[in-house]
Amino acid sequence: DQEVTEHRKSLAIRVSGFDVPKPIKLFEDCGFPTALMGAITKQGYEKPTTIQCQALPIVLSGRDIIGIAKTGSGKTAAFVLPMIVHIMDQPELDKGEGPIGVICAPTRELAHQIFIETKKFAKPYGICVAAVYGGVSKLDQFKELKAGCEIIVATPGRLIDLLKMKAVTMVRATYLVLDEADRMFDLGFEPQIRSIVGQIRPDRQTLLFSATMPYKVERLAREILSDPSRVTVGEVG
Ligand code: ADP
Ligand code: MG
Repeated sequence: DQEVTEHRKSLAIRVSGFDVPKPIKLFEDCGFPTALMGAITKQGYEKPTTIQCQALPIVLSGRDIIGIAKTGSGKTAAFVLPMIVHIMDQPELDKGEGPIGVICAPTRELAHQIFIETKKFAKPYGICVAAVYGGVSKLDQFKELKAGCEIIVATPGRLIDLLKMKAVTMVRATYLVLDEADRMFDLGFEPQIRSIVGQIRPDRQTLLFSATMPYKVERLAREILSDPSRVTVGEVG
């Protein structure tokens, strides 16, 4: 309605897709469990950033999303917080093997940053997070994945290697995040991304975040997301 449209306009948010939920104003509007609210407060996050205001209610409703917003806008928490909720919602969480949440990022620095951020929110729930990327021992990562975890943060190349080595299986994965999709394309990871996506069940929830939306990324998004809501914040390419 008019009020929601005005609210979006005041935040410089543009949306498309069907039945996009209205943006939230406070983290309290998300219905997060107490321990997650505690972790948010501990981070010093007082209120959601603009992308979080619109992305959180979409992702929490189980919908796929394309999120376009510039660097530093708080995209990580926009996919990590609902991922924790998604994992806690799984029946028989202690059974089964392989990660439930899979996050792909273009570089080891980014994967490491996401890993650190994710651990802060996963810790209160005892959810295990593993990071796999190049430049460090593949054998160590093999062992770590074999030991089991609920979330993997990975660069596409190293994840493919470990999948081939059968260090991990994607049978249980239902929440896939492609972060900085444009940069992953620039680095030539399209084949690896397609291969990873092909190993994850089609009824997964898929989230794609990018600072820009070149045609190649748009084309992949159309292929691998189901009826996504699209959120653009500010003036981005
Ligand atoms: P992006 O992925 O969009 O580049 P990040 O997720 O890395 O942005 O977030 C940028 C910075 O903002 C990080 O230091 C993060 O801890 C901080 N941040 C994220 N959400 C909030 C919030 N709601 N309130 C305050 N700081 C936040
Ligand atoms: Mg980011």
